Amino acid sequence: MNMNFYMPAKVISGKDCISQNKALFKLGKSCMIVTGSSSAIKSGALDDVIDALCENGIEYIVYDKIRENPLLSTCYDGGVIAREFGCDFVVGIGGGSPMDAAKAIAGFIANPDIEPDEIFNIPALSPSVPIILVPTTSGTGSEGNPYSILSLDGKDKKQTFNSPYSYAKYAFLDYKYTLSLSRNYSLSTALDAFCHCIESYMSPKSTDISRMFALYGAKNIWNCFDGLDRGEITEDMREALMYASFAGGVAINTTGTGFPHPMGYNLTFYADLPHGRACAVFIGKYVEYQMKSEEGRKLLCGFAEALGTTPEIIGEYLPRLAEFTAEIDDETVTMFCEKVKNARNFVNAPYKVSYDEMIKIYKDLFIK
Ligand code: NAP
Ligand code: ZN
Repeated sequence: MNMNFYMPAKVISGKDCISQNKALFKLGKSCMIVTGSSSAIKSGALDDVIDALCENGIEYIVYDKIRENPLLSTCYDGGVIAREFGCDFVVGIGGGSPMDAAKAIAGFIANPDIEPDEIFNIPALSPSVPIILVPTTSGTGSEGNPYSILSLDGKDKKQTFNSPYSYAKYAFLDYKYTLSLSRNYSLSTALDAFCHCIESYMSPKSTDISRMFALYGAKNIWNCFDGLDRGEITEDMREALMYASFAGGVAINTTGTGFPHPMGYNLTFYADLPHGRACAVFIGKYVEYQMKSEEGRKLLCGFAEALGTTPEIIGEYLPRLAEFTAEIDDETVTMFCEKVKNARNFVNAPYKVSYDEMIKIYKDLFIK
């Protein structure tokens, strides 16, 4: 038994949880709201947050420059603007992109003298300013972990800023903010959350408690996939997905993710494929390789059984939901593998995939 667990964020959930807890926004004198181009407005979360800030007499500035797969430079610029405005805390509103960006901006505010890429030198950093997170997608679970996944400018590559000071002080989980999310993004983000759950469950770093979160998340998402696929998404499903996504985010806080994540990053950069679908493309291969080891087979069978299914069905169903086909050449396969070969994700499972197997996986999927 191993019940090791760390989750310092205070989580407040339920419909209208922001309006009912406005006093919690009193974290400083001036706030930067970090968001994308429209999700905060469309979801209604921006109005609720501004209302809470105003009620506490807190000044604010809205930084809405964050795009999907946020750039390190955009976060650095956000930090400069926030300091000029005197911001002493941040609220991230949106999917994983704005939430991850908010964590980086909170780091840049507290470390005015660093260059952008010095943000990854965690031991040299002063503690970030406080962070509040408000998810408007049910996918990344960023509100339940300190990960901030940043795209390196001009490199088509991601790097994780993972500071102990990047946990949200408060995370507000209100599924009503996901009602405006399209069928496609709802499905893609659910695929991401499911990938977190299965990849976490398989990790040797799992604890009994991280597996509890992973299974809770996976079961809830599994039951929603058919409705998501048909675009019939009820409010009950929205609520279940929001909590499942959070659970997946907490699970990977203990374990990290497996190889579908780095292998998927390449599809995101080169085919503009949303993150969740990009990871799900590789779940068939993930299952196939994990079934090669005794431990992998045992874990996967237990995981699937808890969901009332089999590893083979999971491995067939997720790539189908990802709806992605492409043809790439040998040169691109090599370039993809060179970019991700050093990711620790490849050894974060019972069956450790080798470099030759990475090549084979891309070739099997994309060279006919
Ligand atoms: P996202 O990139 O944050 O957003 C995807 C799209 O959905 C954007 O166009 C966004 O619009 C829109 N959107 C978001 N909420 C909406 C709403 N309620 N109504 C209408 N539109 C909405 O998507 P995501 O999948 O949640 O995040 C992906 C990012 O998170 C990637 O960079 C990935 O690497 C990272 N990630 C982080 C973790 C972690 O643990 N921290 C885990 C997995 C992935 P706007 O542009 O207007 O916002
Ligand atoms: Zn993910």
